[in-house]
Amino acid sequence: MKPTWVVCIKQVPREAVFKGSTGSLQVDRARTEGILNPYDRPAIELALRLKEKHGGAVVVLSMGPPQAEEALREALAFGADRAVLLADPLFAGADTLATAHALAAGVRRLGRFSLILCGARTLDSDTAQVGPQMAEILDLPMAAYVDKASRKEQTLRVERSLDGVRERLRMPLPALITVAGRIQVSRPLPLGSVENAFGTPEVECWGTQDLDVDLGRVGWEGSHTAADDYTVWRHSRSGQVVQTRPADAADRILDVLVKRNLLGG
Ligand SMILES: Cc1cc2nc3c(=O)[nH]c(=O)nc-3n(C[C@H](O)[C@H](O)[C@H](O)COP(=O)(O)OP(=O)(O)OC[C@H]3O[C@@H](n4cnc5c(N)ncnc54)[C@H](O)[C@@H]3O)c2cc1C
Repeated sequence: MKPTWVVCIKQVPREAVFKGSTGSLQVDRARTEGILNPYDRPAIELALRLKEKHGGAVVVLSMGPPQAEEALREALAFGADRAVLLADPLFAGADTLATAHALAAGVRRLGRFSLILCGARTLDSDTAQVGPQMAEILDLPMAAYVDKASRKEQTLRVERSLDGVRERLRMPLPALITVAGRIQVSRPLPLGSVENAFGTPEVECWGTQDLDVDLGRVGWEGSHTAADDYTVWRHSRSGQVVQTRPADAADRILDVLVKRNLLGG
């Protein structure tokens, strides 16, 4: 049986642009571009390395609105073999647990798999909860912040760096890992693969009716957390242009940094 490496990826807004008022704030998707969560790139990369070494197929899975398809197509361009989008109005309003239940239902529908790989965190909500919650729902062994993995028969050997030590673990498969951001992701991207990934309708779309899922566990219904209130951060920056000879400019900039105690020590 060939291994299936499932990677969960999320499309996140490039910038935090909101609509609505305090109390019912939503990301304004019309005014901000959606991008592949940068912390999911290492998970895709590790899955591709596992496939190169052990064979099988990489399946990317995402829950999100229809435009999340773009992130899946990007993953196809990197070398994933199959892409599935879980999109349904009934998934809307999901907190992390409801998201994990939807993704777990997607994984169950995929059938047999060897390993689920998640990013360590996301650029937007950034809770790092979805991976561990999925492992709990699917009753899988889990390791977080993995940066190296290899398979030996039905065992996965993983490595991670924690608090100044290098830890090596063995886990029975199937399992779930979250992948640390330190993996090098500079994989050459052939133009042809980009064209293929964006030119053909390869992304499968599944709704709640396609999944064996309890509707009380997904979307608003399945969300146990609710935000009472939101306050939008306002950032302000002031710049200073130094126009003089480079050597004098360097001295002036150094002076400012020292005065503001920004150089440490
Ligand atoms: C009360 C509440 C209401 C919310 N309402 C909404 C809402 O209406 N609309 C909305 O868009 N969001 C909503 N969210 C945010 C939503 O819960 C999170 O975006 C989602 O659960 C993922 O959490 P996270 O970004 O912290 O992921 P993390 O736990 O930080 O992500 C870790 C990893 O899990 C995987 N992962 C996470 N999310 C997905 C995904 N969707 N698909 C595939 N893989 C994934 C990725 O591999 C990722 O790297 C709400 C959150 C709360 C608490």
